[in-house]
Amino acid sequence: MSRTVVVLAVLVLAVAGAVAGLFVILNRAEGPAIELVRPTDLVGRSAVFEATVEAPRSELTALEAVIEQDGAAYPLFSFGDPAAADMRQEGPDRIRINRTFDRESHPEIRAGTATVRVSATRPVVFGLSERSTTVAVDVEVRLQPPRLAVASTFHYVNHGGSEAVVYTVSPSDSESGVRVGDRLYPGYPAAGLVEAAGDNLRLAFFALDYDQDLNTPIELYATDAAGNEASAQFDHRRFPRNFRRARINVSDGFLRRVVPSIVSQAPELADEQPDGTDEDLLDLYLFINGELRRQNRATLIELAAGTAPQVLWDGAFRQLANSQVESGFADHRTYLYEGDEVDQQVHLGFDLASTANAPIRASNDGVVVRADYFGIYGNCVIVDHGMGLQSLYAHLSSIAVSPGDGVEQGQQLGLSGQTGLAGGDHLHFAMLLNGRPVSPVEWWDPHWIEDRILRKLRAASGAGD
Ligand SMILES: [Zn+2]
Repeated sequence: MSRTVVVLAVLVLAVAGAVAGLFVILNRAEGPAIELVRPTDLVGRSAVFEATVEAPRSELTALEAVIEQDGAAYPLFSFGDPAAADMRQEGPDRIRINRTFDRESHPEIRAGTATVRVSATRPVVFGLSERSTTVAVDVEVRLQPPRLAVASTFHYVNHGGSEAVVYTVSPSDSESGVRVGDRLYPGYPAAGLVEAAGDNLRLAFFALDYDQDLNTPIELYATDAAGNEASAQFDHRRFPRNFRRARINVSDGFLRRVVPSIVSQAPELADEQPDGTDEDLLDLYLFINGELRRQNRATLIELAAGTAPQVLWDGAFRQLANSQVESGFADHRTYLYEGDEVDQQVHLGFDLASTANAPIRASNDGVVVRADYFGIYGNCVIVDHGMGLQSLYAHLSSIAVSPGDGVEQGQQLGLSGQTGLAGGDHLHFAMLLNGRPVSPVEWWDPHWIEDRILRKLRAASGAGD
């Protein structure tokens, strides 16, 4: 064999090896990884398309998303025209695309089934070839907003007080309730409370809070599983209330008793150590009366999210026996120290004084959701009565229940005391709706319970489907 033949044979083998190598790379190369984040099952009147696409160095030669219906495809995203979409690079290999589409951008889409399809292509072997991936999901398009119908009449709401409304919502898996300004009060299934009621009947308690304008808008709202929204008005009257004003003298003796005790027990104040001077005690007191009070109120709103979805109480709530009302709901308090105004706060409960270490009893049936030291409230018990309604008992000297305990009306929760921000032995009692204080006077009144709640539930008998 000549030298030339040998060289040629080696060359042929080398080329064949290179070609075989390319085939191996090609066979192993995969298309871009696509994750269709939204929609996954339902598309409403307005919907969000969101997907991530992963490829080495994010090198893509094509990326398209469409929604298909009845044989036609309508673009959701295109590399060439990403106008309506937000496209973000998330690390070197990954991009995320996101856009809203609705009746205006896609007027052709009708109620019924549709398919969302995403395709991406990337170059392989230095651009000599390509690899593609397609991901598709079948969705149901729902364009009809949820329907709301009010079943109760005569809604009267006092400023700082509560009220109930009974209504139906369809489809029955919609989220719904009452919106008062920026505050939402969810409605709960009322079937167990109303004779022959359908499973789309709802009861919602709501409040016009003392710190909201008397004319704050009040309406029913609903959002279905596809994100379609609806709202409805219902007839109601509102009544103004005069909240009392009170002036409270803060004495050094009071500061020396309450401040170090709260500082030592409230975790929010773990870094504070009073240096013993009266000025320092006053500063800490103002922090407790302002910032700690605000933190405690935020905690109450978080706690309300775990409320039971059914009514646990029965009949009027009970006031502390033989007690003297020392302070009303939503009193506006001005605090004076050595004659100077040092603070202003609103007192959101009732101060009820009886005898020292008086037995404190559950005002109605419910489940204990908190029983421990709780900032300005000192030793505190909170009982959940369901559907967003809770009662709070503060400043106790001792606690006799634990979270999770079911309690009956009149059952002892502990003994009164003066722990937390308390000027003397008394019970600070509050009724909370969705974690915000409402006037307890209404809930103590059997006539109010009858007119505002029970009458509406009886009248709704047979409602819903
Ligand atoms: Zn109080």
